[in-house]
Amino acid sequence: MATLITLLPGDGIGPDVTASARQVLDAVADRYGHTFEYREALIGGAAIDAVANPLPNDTIEACEAAEAVFLGAVGGPKWSDPNASIRPEQGLLKLRAVLGVYANLRPVKIYPELAGASPLRPEILDGVDLLVVRELTGGIYFGKKTRTDDAASDLCEYTTDEIERIVRVAARLAEGRRGKLCSVDKANVLETSRLWRDVTDRVLADEYPALEVETLLVDAAAMHLLSRPADFDVIVTENMFGDILTDEASMLAGSLGMLPSASLGNSRAGLYEPIHGSAPDIAGQGIANPCAAIASAAMLLRHSLGLEKEAAAVEAAIAEAIAGGARTADIVAAGHTHVSTDEMTAEIIRCLR
Ligand code: NAD
Repeated sequence: MATLITLLPGDGIGPDVTASARQVLDAVADRYGHTFEYREALIGGAAIDAVANPLPNDTIEACEAAEAVFLGAVGGPKWSDPNASIRPEQGLLKLRAVLGVYANLRPVKIYPELAGASPLRPEILDGVDLLVVRELTGGIYFGKKTRTDDAASDLCEYTTDEIERIVRVAARLAEGRRGKLCSVDKANVLETSRLWRDVTDRVLADEYPALEVETLLVDAAAMHLLSRPADFDVIVTENMFGDILTDEASMLAGSLGMLPSASLGNSRAGLYEPIHGSAPDIAGQGIANPCAAIASAAMLLRHSLGLEKEAAAVEAAIAEAIAGGARTADIVAAGHTHVSTDEMTAEIIRCLR
């Protein structure tokens, strides 16, 4: 029976990297004897242009009917007027809420051959293999917003239930890795962070006593992530802190174009997307790095379809293509030639076969 995957290409480089992910999924289907059926739907700026709604009902239906949803990226200067009442990002936030995907998994893995692409010294990057678990459907991004002519506010709220469930996801993942969990908050200033810390301490002490636990304030965490990144195994944090720390962590890997993500809820269907945005500065040039999107497709195979062997094969193919010297413009060393999005994708597929 065919497995339904809904594709939301979105804006900017979103359609390019979504096409790459689809080609790799097709190659997996071909090699391992699966049948994937795709449905494409509108989101973000493309949906605003077509139907004046960043998340049309048709798209919601297509996502709810699917085993998994793959998203490229949304947004861009065309829809960025600060006074606009309809914005592409609203579509993405609503989609996360509709699908109930509260746990965003962002693995950061260093390919040794790309150490030179990071602004950090190679010895600092040695052994980096961490996973950020970001709470995705609560906090300041979802709180009530107000705006008058000369004042604005964004409400940050968390409940005990929301914190407990994300901490449990992170703790279980840490148990399957190196057994280390770092919780990041701002408990010296924020009330939501004091609740976060109380709940986290209790859940970890009562239910996961074997884990090695560390607690950091977010400002210190931003610094430790650059000074001792190899010490981290799993990091769990709230929505906005996770958003910011993972963009910082992308510099360990050399480029935003390398980092995938999976957003999971209590049902099997998940939302998979590269962590990067629509990259308007390189859109339409055919030079976007498809690795983050392809690695997100690997996470889709693993977490929504239960195809671990196939997921590992895709990840190995990315590593092999990079080890073989294939580089898009964002990760190429000065003076070397780079390949296009399509060429990088083709090389990864060649390594998969
Ligand atoms: P961005 O991630 O789009 O780009 C930041 C920088 O990284 C740019 O120089 C870009 O060229 C580069 N980059 C990103 N992905 C790359 C890739 N795959 N290959 C090569 N280089 C890559 O962030 P931004 O410029 O701050 O935001 C652009 C738009 O994307 C905004 O409208 C923003 O709201 C939106 N955005 C969307 C998402 C999402 O859809 N999940 C996430 C972040 C930002």
